[in-house]
Amino acid sequence: MGSAVQGAIDWDRRYKLMRTHTAMHILCGVVWRDYGAQVTGGNMDPGEGRMDFEFANLSRELITEIEAKCNAEVAAARAIRTQILPRAEAFAIPDLIRTKINLLPEGIQEVRTVEIVGLDLQADGGTHVANTREVGGIRVVDYKSKGAINKRIYIRLD
Ligand SMILES: [Zn+2]
Repeated sequence: MGSAVQGAIDWDRRYKLMRTHTAMHILCGVVWRDYGAQVTGGNMDPGEGRMDFEFANLSRELITEIEAKCNAEVAAARAIRTQILPRAEAFAIPDLIRTKINLLPEGIQEVRTVEIVGLDLQADGGTHVANTREVGGIRVVDYKSKGAINKRIYIRLD
């Protein structure tokens, strides 16, 4: 305690994580909007990530379609904005319920939201880019069945 420390951000790594994280929001926004499939989990490294969905009928054809739709959202240059909302206000947003905001401990009075304007809205503490265009290309590189309903989708930044 009481000693000075010095920290530095590895900007290349951080920026790549911001782009990757935003790509995952795009993926989960597209999959929710067009297929009604909820995200159940995910993980990422700089430049690549995976997300799990409750997606019963996923196919190779759909993967190709999802990839094209994700890249259309990148090209659409959507703005990304964050807000800090009072707990009650955040809980009143129907879209946030699906991100399991109800798991938030009672003591937390403010909720940070991250919105890809026109596509996706989540309660979220992560770092993101300011515009979907910054993500660059998204490739859906693979998918895997994790059970009758759960499917895992793997993405990589181009
Ligand atoms: Zn996020």
